[in-house]
Amino acid sequence: MNSAILTIDDFSSKNTPAIVDYLKEKGIRPIFFATGQNVERNYEEAVYAVKQGMIVGNHSYSHPAFSSISVEACMEEIEKCEQVLDKLYQDSGVKRVYRPFRFPYGDKGGDNKAALQKYLKEQGFHKVDDRHIPYPWWKENGLDQDIDTFWTFDFVEYNIRPDSGFTKDSVWEKMHDTEPETGAALFGKDNRHILLLHAHDETEEMLPEYYKLFIEHLLENGVTFDEPKFQSSSMT
Ligand SMILES: [Zn+2]
Repeated sequence: MNSAILTIDDFSSKNTPAIVDYLKEKGIRPIFFATGQNVERNYEEAVYAVKQGMIVGNHSYSHPAFSSISVEACMEEIEKCEQVLDKLYQDSGVKRVYRPFRFPYGDKGGDNKAALQKYLKEQGFHKVDDRHIPYPWWKENGLDQDIDTFWTFDFVEYNIRPDSGFTKDSVWEKMHDTEPETGAALFGKDNRHILLLHAHDETEEMLPEYYKLFIEHLLENGVTFDEPKFQSSSMT
């Protein structure tokens, strides 16, 4: 049996409510990772998602590459997004229970990696329970110890752009790659994944309801979706 946790980055967007409705209908509980900037741009859509019980984590305020800015600037980015998310939950009338974090581009800050992990821990961010991830490289790279939420499979569907040459079929090919560089094939025996999709209106324009296409395909291939569980970072 293959199982997966679904994560959706760069929340929120105009198509967020439609994504939320679809996932609720399918009984899938994802983690959305928000940039403060996008939440401010699409505030009503973000409120809708939180009211529907969606978990929204921190993905920085303006999505910079953390290895190219100072450690102080990284912390400011995280803090500024926290303020937006605290207000979002408050305005939605929902208690904010979980605070997961994902680095923009999965860039853990280069030389500042240790300092940033320490900061995330001190700030009480929640580590997504990843003990089910079976791939040796997950531990070899210390991902099992990190507080932030990395992923095992990225659909990279944001590459579907005018004239990019990257299409729905390219995503399909990636989904069915049996020997990916990451060593984590999407389908196959007993795979456990943290999947990465994006809430991008640009993709919606190119391929309407793209998220349905991909998730439907996973469901048809027997993938089940787990509810994310969390470990408090102070517990590790
Ligand atoms: Zn992102």
